[in-house]
Amino acid sequence: MTVFALGPEEQEWCAAVRAMTAERLRPLAERGEPGRVNRPLVAALGELGLLRRLFPADGAPRALDLCLLRESLARECTEAETALALQGLGAHPLVRSGTEAQRARWLPEVAAGRAIASFALSEPDAGSDAAALSLTAEPDGPDGWRLTGEKCWISNAPEADFATVFARTGGAGARGVTAFLVPAGRPGLTGARLDMLSPHPIGTMVFDGTPVTRADVLGEVGGGFAVAMATLNLFRPSVGAFAVGMAQAALDAALAHAGARTAFGGPLKDLQSVGHQLAEMATRVESARLLVYAAASAYDMGAPGIVRRSAMAKLLATETAQYVVDAAVQIHGARALRRGHLLEHLYREVRAPRIYEGATEVQRSIIARELYRN
Ligand SMILES: Cc1cc2nc3c(=O)[nH]c(=O)nc-3n(C[C@H](O)[C@H](O)[C@H](O)COP(=O)(O)OP(=O)(O)OC[C@H]3O[C@@H](n4cnc5c(N)ncnc54)[C@H](O)[C@@H]3O)c2cc1C
Repeated sequence: MTVFALGPEEQEWCAAVRAMTAERLRPLAERGEPGRVNRPLVAALGELGLLRRLFPADGAPRALDLCLLRESLARECTEAETALALQGLGAHPLVRSGTEAQRARWLPEVAAGRAIASFALSEPDAGSDAAALSLTAEPDGPDGWRLTGEKCWISNAPEADFATVFARTGGAGARGVTAFLVPAGRPGLTGARLDMLSPHPIGTMVFDGTPVTRADVLGEVGGGFAVAMATLNLFRPSVGAFAVGMAQAALDAALAHAGARTAFGGPLKDLQSVGHQLAEMATRVESARLLVYAAASAYDMGAPGIVRRSAMAKLLATETAQYVVDAAVQIHGARALRRGHLLEHLYREVRAPRIYEGATEVQRSIIARELYRN
């Protein structure tokens, strides 16, 4: 495939993922409780083999595979998309930096959808500036630490079965951070659910002298920030793919509605301002999609400029999705705002990706910095 078009096999695979999402996953998502981990849904993602795509036998997934999977899921069911993405985000540090024993214990369970993963980096006083995190790992004997502090806005917390937790073992800044794999139920670990506009489960994690040992470390002591950044580098274009999937779903709904709804003696689509709006939406969705595919392909090929490309893809796609979903609401009129309408749901879902995994402004700062590199 080129970066400009998918080959027939990839198109068929995306169509198959969309069909199984609509048939098998959407009904499970509809039965879920908002803000709670939907275990039957995650188990079905495992049974359908979709989670296994995130954990291929030969190591990390292809970034483009991850994007196509996320885009296809998002077009049909955002809950299924998010549940899959969070398994990947929470477990990728294990794939990349875990020991044989850690991987053998957790990856088969995550890939089967039996164990729920989470990625715990953000804190109340360290969001965009993640290197300022203050969860403390105090030495405890020759081979262990005790974690004390709080993580906040953590997807799947506090229900996840394990979390990749980033804590300060050494000095200030990025170099003093170590990644730990912390299973649920460790002494001193509690948490609470947060009721958010974003419909997926999010909460806090509170550590009160929680013990961890060298066997829980992911990668090197002091190398945790690199573990976090490597995970985010892989996932950043795929947040864009999630956004593109939502934008396409909104565009499809707007096209159908504007073709069917009559006003002033004809279908809405024949009003020039509506037709132009649809054209603008379609053009922006296509350009965002191409940038996402290009960034993911560059990642897979090890091409230069991955940081800049990934930031551009995430920035453009998430901002585009917000624009397109809002425009689709406008074309639908009042009915789009009715609770339970697809666009009412997308309007709530589309907001958070402009903030997490690097807010829009942070992506712009990254791009600006990269423009002056070399
Ligand atoms: C739905 C949802 C799910 C999340 N899931 C997780 C998770 O699973 N794990 C996890 O660790 N975290 C998660 N987060 C947290 C997320 O990563 C943080 O919200 C994000 O990093 C921003 O941090 P903050 O909210 O503290 O905002 P702040 O860092 O306080 O930033 C607020 C605003 O300031 C501006 N700003 C900040 N820095 C800069 C800059 N350098 N240049 C220009 N402008 C800037 C931006 O407009 C930004 O939106 C989630 C958040 C949400 C909303």
